[in-house]
Amino acid sequence: MIAIYPGSFDPITLGHLDIIERGCQLFDQVIVVLSRNPNKTPLFTVQQRMAHIRWSTQHLPNLEVDSFDGLTVTYARLRQAKVLLRGLRAVSDFELELQMAHTNKTLSDDIETVFLATSTEYSFLSSSLVKEIARFGGPIDHLVPQAVALDIYKCYAKTPTASAPTAVEPTPPVEPPAESSVERHPAPEESIFSES
Ligand code: ADP
Repeated sequence: MIAIYPGSFDPITLGHLDIIERGCQLFDQVIVVLSRNPNKTPLFTVQQRMAHIRWSTQHLPNLEVDSFDGLTVTYARLRQAKVLLRGLRAVSDFELELQMAHTNKTLSDDIETVFLATSTEYSFLSSSLVKEIARFGGPIDHLVPQAVALDIYKCYAKTPTASAPTAVEPTPPVEPPAESSVERHPAPEESIFSES
């Protein structure tokens, strides 16, 4: 059985990786699908995020990484996947996740959402938290795969607001959201990962 694990993964964290590894034990194949979340301004390009995930999952032979601009159920149907894999950290995740699961069920009745409860050590962990810590120069090596941490440090080292004591607001939204035109740090060529 094929499972799709959709998300923004901006960037992949050890919490995501834990769900991926456990998913790979449960399903014949897991496909991590990066989708653009219109409510979030990404730090890394889709290509950079895919490179991060590929680098972090080299030990998983039944894992594939892809991107798709459209409904997750459309992608799942294209790939003949029957399962949407999602992670649950806390009650705060539950409401939105349940709403998405119900919505997807109305769109495609034969695709099931399967939730994996976070491992306790990652229950607090989110991509936003990692970015917030890195932005103010804190350590993130224990939260994301090593090479991803280097890319994040590199990124914020080049961000002028990184050490400003009052820079507590998130990066302002950038429009339009087209991947090729969204301003990000670092520029794609500055990533330690080559673009594929
Ligand atoms: P999205 O923008 O779709 O929420 P994310 O990259 O933030 O994408 O998350 C993708 C999935 O991974 C979601 O189901 C989310 O709940 C889950 N997830 C994120 N962080 C963790 C974690 N630390 N432990 C378990 N699941 C997580």
